[in-house]
Amino acid sequence: MVGRMPRINTHYQKLRAGYLFPEIGKRVRAFAAAHPDARIIPLGIGDVVLPLPVPIVDALKAGAEEMGKRETFRGYGPEQGYDFLREAIAASYREQGAQVALDDIFVSDGSKCDTANIQEIFALDNVIALTDPVYPVYVDTNVMAGRTGEADDSGRYGKLVYLPTTAENGFEPTLPAGHVDIIYLCSPNNPTGAVMSRAALERWVAYARKEAAVILFDAAYEAFIREPGLVHSIFQIPGSRDVAIEFRSLSKSAGFTGTRCAFTVIPKELCGRDAGGGPVSLHSLWNRRHTTKFNGTSYPVQKAAAAAFGPEGRRAVQANIDYYMENARLIREGLSSAGYRVYGGQNAPYIWLRVPGGMTSWDFFDRLLAEANVVGTPGSGFGSCGEGYFRLSAFGWRENVEAAVERIRTNCRWEP
Ligand SMILES: *Cc1c(COP(=O)(O)O)cnc(C)c1O
Repeated sequence: MVGRMPRINTHYQKLRAGYLFPEIGKRVRAFAAAHPDARIIPLGIGDVVLPLPVPIVDALKAGAEEMGKRETFRGYGPEQGYDFLREAIAASYREQGAQVALDDIFVSDGSKCDTANIQEIFALDNVIALTDPVYPVYVDTNVMAGRTGEADDSGRYGKLVYLPTTAENGFEPTLPAGHVDIIYLCSPNNPTGAVMSRAALERWVAYARKEAAVILFDAAYEAFIREPGLVHSIFQIPGSRDVAIEFRSLSKSAGFTGTRCAFTVIPKELCGRDAGGGPVSLHSLWNRRHTTKFNGTSYPVQKAAAAAFGPEGRRAVQANIDYYMENARLIREGLSSAGYRVYGGQNAPYIWLRVPGGMTSWDFFDRLLAEANVVGTPGSGFGSCGEGYFRLSAFGWRENVEAAVERIRTNCRWEP
């Protein structure tokens, strides 16, 4: 019987990550069971807490009402998204000084899927570079596709090119020594909270042009950039349109983690090459993929997303971002006054701290849980260069953030 079952995709058996959040859950449950009176504060997970702003909920409701009336009911929409939303997105790119046309934009139900699926349009023998630490989706989807080989003891895959981003290089990945075909970059970064400078992005675009590489630029946290002059989109960099794809999401900015809307920008001039060496439009390949495997984001959700780009929606979204960034400031300042070396948190909702006293990331996790009853994320869960670091998220209620910082300052001070 077993001998006749369908063979599975055995590349899935090479997956390493995926135990991070279950392991955190397991340790938190064990601690809570042993200490039923402890009030545990979660600052680990990258999910928003504030409800959707009123103008966005109003648009969502209006969209749902239209779906309930014969005159305004809609069935399948365009797979790439309705023009009213793509126009609003293109206008916001114009304001940021980025060259993006309406038909470069593919609306979707999330950047997780988009950053996961994009690798499908590339051959299996491309050399992939990514940062270490990294958002695990980029790695795992390439493992599933069979592009990586096996993991070694440190969890690194033989065929991937890892670009360390640590305090030693100011969290700016250095260019690969040799040729790579595809590079994943995420700025502002999850997990390090670092943001790439304009000069760094110019170097990457120049590298990609010289090597005919493609940059997959994840800008899911672009709305959290506060410093003027920093780049929000790779398409603000001249020469980027024929070497880059950008991913953006309303999840973290507008609170859409449970509502689901994102978009991917693929300029029409961006090409890969076919078996004979001839250029092929990646825009048309993705369009083929998207229209074959996706039937569009729901109409009420696209109405709600468009409202997030309107004047009232924007003000409300900005207020939510300001709330989280004030949390980030409280965490940053509170922890550095308690003796910690902290990074990020200025243009991103994540604080990345150096674990003190030579502890491992997991040792520090246990200590913070035991002594402050605060849950964070061990940096080693994002890659071997994340060992010795720890992520705290600014997505939380203010009173929880204040209590967490106070407890760390009282119970987990660190004298360097
Ligand atoms: C949260 C996040 C996203 C967005 O995912 P959605 O599927 O749009 O919710 C994308 N990239 C990174 C690095 C993220 O942390």
